[in-house]
Amino acid sequence: MVTHASAQMTAGRLPLVVGNWKMNGTRVTSVELLAALRSAGPFDAEVSVCCPFPYLVDVALSLQGSGIAWGAQDCSQHEPGAYTGEVAASMLAEFGCRHVIVGHSERRTHHAESDTLVADKARQALAHGLTPIVCVGETRAERDAGSTEAVVKRQMSAVIHALGHCVSQIVVAYEPIWAIGTGLTATPQQAQALHAVLRAQLAAASTRAGEMRLLYGGSVNAANAAELFAQVDIDGALVGGASLKEADFSAICRAASHAALGSTGKSRT
Ligand code: PEP
Repeated sequence: MVTHASAQMTAGRLPLVVGNWKMNGTRVTSVELLAALRSAGPFDAEVSVCCPFPYLVDVALSLQGSGIAWGAQDCSQHEPGAYTGEVAASMLAEFGCRHVIVGHSERRTHHAESDTLVADKARQALAHGLTPIVCVGETRAERDAGSTEAVVKRQMSAVIHALGHCVSQIVVAYEPIWAIGTGLTATPQQAQALHAVLRAQLAAASTRAGEMRLLYGGSVNAANAAELFAQVDIDGALVGGASLKEADFSAICRAASHAALGSTGKSRT
């Protein structure tokens, strides 16, 4: 439950922690995990869990009234129709989803999702009242070649082009691909540098860029979360592996709560 939101919102941006379960768990373990997470709360940061589609009903029932939001890991770029296997943003809205992840590197890689397709999905999510969490990030080879900024800006630019000033309604997750699920984390300084680049790019498109949440993702855990959240342009995390362990995920949510309450000493203005 967000109990200190007003103080943080006055200062700037309420930290957001989003769990990305990917294709993990069972119906039973999912409900058990959420019961434990619910008991660990309330949190002073915004917390959300993006689960596999078939678990949405259970997740909604488990989290209703907890202050913890839920969402999905992808949506179609189309309105409902003849698209076998796809799930429409309007359907996710029916299940009370607040967020939907789009453009995760696993979808860009395994499903050949292009920058334009990701942008179309973000637009579709917004059209149905969902907040898209748009993932961007570079491969190890791109970083080693010195093209990190160019790659991330290209990915972001497609979304800015599709959404115009409405881009301020999205959440961005900077996820260096080499840090996802590898145990390697970008240093807080590396992550902050990219977040600053992204915020500057967004500022050229929207006067509200300063209010947007930019999350970091890539092996965030209980031990490294606080230092990441202390960076001026890092407003929370997209969490994969650690979101499947209640104790770890709760610890990350608590670190975000401390950031929300200003105890990291950073200024978000
Ligand atoms: C992710 O899948 O978005 C992610 C960041 O995974 P992990 O935290 O496991 O690196």
